[in-house]
Amino acid sequence: MLEKKLIGIDLGGTTVKFAILTTDGKVQTKWSIVTDNSDNGQKIVPSIIESITHHLELYGMKKEDFLGIGMGSPGSVSHAEGTVIGAYNLNWRTTQNLKEAIESGTGIPFFIDNDANVAALGEQWMGAGNNEPNVVFVTLGTGVGGGIILNNELTRGASGAAGEIGHIVVDPHGYDCTCGNKGCLETVASATGVVRLARSMAESYAGDSSLNESIDNGDTVDAKTVFDAAKNGDTFANRVVDEVCNYLALACGNIANTLNPSTIVIGGGVSRAGEFLAEKIRESFKTYAFPPIYQHTKIKIAELGNDAGVIGASSLVLNQSTVEI
Ligand SMILES: [Zn+2]
Repeated sequence: MLEKKLIGIDLGGTTVKFAILTTDGKVQTKWSIVTDNSDNGQKIVPSIIESITHHLELYGMKKEDFLGIGMGSPGSVSHAEGTVIGAYNLNWRTTQNLKEAIESGTGIPFFIDNDANVAALGEQWMGAGNNEPNVVFVTLGTGVGGGIILNNELTRGASGAAGEIGHIVVDPHGYDCTCGNKGCLETVASATGVVRLARSMAESYAGDSSLNESIDNGDTVDAKTVFDAAKNGDTFANRVVDEVCNYLALACGNIANTLNPSTIVIGGGVSRAGEFLAEKIRESFKTYAFPPIYQHTKIKIAELGNDAGVIGASSLVLNQSTVEI
């Protein structure tokens, strides 16, 4: 008998990405469809089922060839129930029973978790986490998310909300966060947070700076503009980046002191700043991490890019004790 395969799905607000993988995490084939969130998002699940059915036919595969389907979804996900609620970029305001719909539509066992947890699993398994058992993932995108893997298991917590790293308070007197608190990491280290910090610091900066000039001129400034200027030696941009990295290091230090992971992986759009970002976080991390922990914590940039979602989602299937390989 041929070895059974996995299907990984990364459900996003603009596209749904699919992959067929081997049980050792190798992507064999990938495809994607546009997310049709019209009609209160009621077309999304049928289009996923149709796309899977179509591709299995195309590849001459049957439902019996698969151990299961894993999916990462935005919104508030119940891993146990297989449901999603409050995924506003999908127009899902009420509870969506994905497990029931997709299992009955495909005949393949289905597992789901939130997109940050799933990306964390992907990076831990096949990316910068190097398949080490204790890895924390921090994603710096439009918001800041995270996922915690301890002893090879995703930590979900008492109410499924573990890993909300973006809402670690790094400045109790800081900016208002969307969650209602003040000074969450997300307010200063997300893509929008970096720009907010740059604009605020620009008000009191008087020296020469191309970044400061762009802000004063009303040019479009995003996180990449800030990091690129810093890499080019702009003094003001470097002050902003140092501030961002100091906040990130503070959060990473507290995470490391609490959980003692071997690796903290930094992903998401802002992490495209690469080693420049990682090195600055490492410098300040030393200030906040307990010395014996500091020596044993690697801070690394994510390696899988857009594939982290489908790879991590597929691993949800393997992490179920009920599934026999
Ligand atoms: Zn918050």
